[in-house]
Amino acid sequence: MKLSIETPLIHSPKLSQLNHCQVWLKMESSQPTGSFKLRSIGRACQMHAEEGAKHFICSSGGNAGIAVAYAARMLNLKATIVVPETTSNKAQDLIKQQGAHLIVHGASWVEANSLALSLVDKDSVYIHPFDDPLLWEGVADLIDEVIQAGLNPDAVVLSVGGGSLLSGVIQGLDRHNINIPIYAVETEGTASLNAAMQAGKHIALEEVTGIATTLAAKQVCKEAFELSQNHQVHSLKVTDQETVSSCFAFLDDHRTLVEPACGASLSILYQQKIQFEPHENVLVIVCGGAGINLKQLTAYTQ
Ligand SMILES: *Cc1c(COP(=O)(O)O)cnc(C)c1O
Repeated sequence: MKLSIETPLIHSPKLSQLNHCQVWLKMESSQPTGSFKLRSIGRACQMHAEEGAKHFICSSGGNAGIAVAYAARMLNLKATIVVPETTSNKAQDLIKQQGAHLIVHGASWVEANSLALSLVDKDSVYIHPFDDPLLWEGVADLIDEVIQAGLNPDAVVLSVGGGSLLSGVIQGLDRHNINIPIYAVETEGTASLNAAMQAGKHIALEEVTGIATTLAAKQVCKEAFELSQNHQVHSLKVTDQETVSSCFAFLDDHRTLVEPACGASLSILYQQKIQFEPHENVLVIVCGGAGINLKQLTAYTQ
């Protein structure tokens, strides 16, 4: 049985009207763990389980850890998740709720990841949160679902952290020989893809800052950078405040609470940052995010 589910694809009257085109939402927020990570991580965990893995070890900003913890519980295996201190209490609670062993360590994902790697032994398998072909393969299925639903997108809008979502979506489009613009959105404090594209080299940021902790990878995976060089990837940056106001707007318009990481993509549409043609179908990956509650989101506005 597949761990991820087929998510709703819904038309957004509000965002369509605002942008003078047809905006379609792929609701990854509806995955059982609240984000697309169940596609990527779910695929990896399932493959490793079939090969006899007994224990998963993962580092995560939050959502990957929740997905590993969920996968382990569904597969009756053990999970150890290492998160940095920046990971929200909500995300930490969700990981523990799934019965996983949670370790909080380090100021950022890099430190958490070093500890996670050091814990791997012969009985355990390390699950990377974004840099593994298995993950991208799992994500690509979401494009199959969109095509099967009868939608032929003219553009895609998505958020970029470590770049697994971008890599998987491009893989999915390639499966169907679709070559369309992809608007890759980051916050100003986490714009590692933007920096690499500007430099024309696979560089890393010195530091990552801001509230979109789920996007806080100092360097995107090599695959994402390389794809940005030979596909129509357009990099965009938004402010933290734009992500927060878009999360609130989306909550009102579509009754779904998402993280600032997802609000980043939504703010491209709420702020009308791209000019689309009236006939164009714009596919927005509503990547979701479980590490937020209304109180926290409200606190970000103060
Ligand atoms: C992981 C995640 C991202 C970033 O995805 P990458 O594959 O790391 O680029 C964006 N939004 C949410 C909600 C996530 O969980």
